[in-house]
Amino acid sequence: MAETIKDLLVGNVNWAANTAKERPEFFSKLSAGQTPKFLWIGCSDSRVPATEITNAMPGSIFVQRNIANMVVHTDSNLLSVVNYAVKVLKVKHIIVCGHYGCGGVKAAMTNDKFGFLDNWLLHIKDVYRLHQNELDKIEKVEDRENRFVELNVLEQVSNLAKVSFVQEEWDAGEFPYIHGWVYSLKDGLVKNLKMSINSANDLEKVYQYQNK
Ligand SMILES: [Zn+2]
Repeated sequence: MAETIKDLLVGNVNWAANTAKERPEFFSKLSAGQTPKFLWIGCSDSRVPATEITNAMPGSIFVQRNIANMVVHTDSNLLSVVNYAVKVLKVKHIIVCGHYGCGGVKAAMTNDKFGFLDNWLLHIKDVYRLHQNELDKIEKVEDRENRFVELNVLEQVSNLAKVSFVQEEWDAGEFPYIHGWVYSLKDGLVKNLKMSINSANDLEKVYQYQNK
């Protein structure tokens, strides 16, 4: 485990040397440009890096991460990433990947204060409110947290579908598909929540934009 800045820099030199040895074309090919087929919206948690857990190489996944993998419609950083991914890179799939044991989701379930972070956690608390009936009935705290993680991912998938320029892509063609995944820190496996959408049909009517 890297503990110091020096560890990271030495690690980089070693990684670059090994990669150049194992894949002689790697750097010349990737330095010419990127054509990722996937956009990943994940949690900032250090234990859930997109490329490592999917065994994918650099160049495969365009990435945006924040606390608890949220899609907030006033987050211009996230929206810029999504816009570039769908309009320019033309990614075929967008994956919202949450993870069990998510600190942000757990914090949002409590009544504790976390300073500045409270404002971000409010977005997660809003998701709790939407599913309060289901969540309040789950007695074991860990089970409730786990279900909240899943419901939060599904809500963020819906939030992506509400974005007008995502719907524009669907009007023009098949892609992108949006998927909801949850990663388990305990065994390293992804649970596919079986939600793969490429239309706004399942959204409430008020969110469905019309082509003019
Ligand atoms: Zn997390």
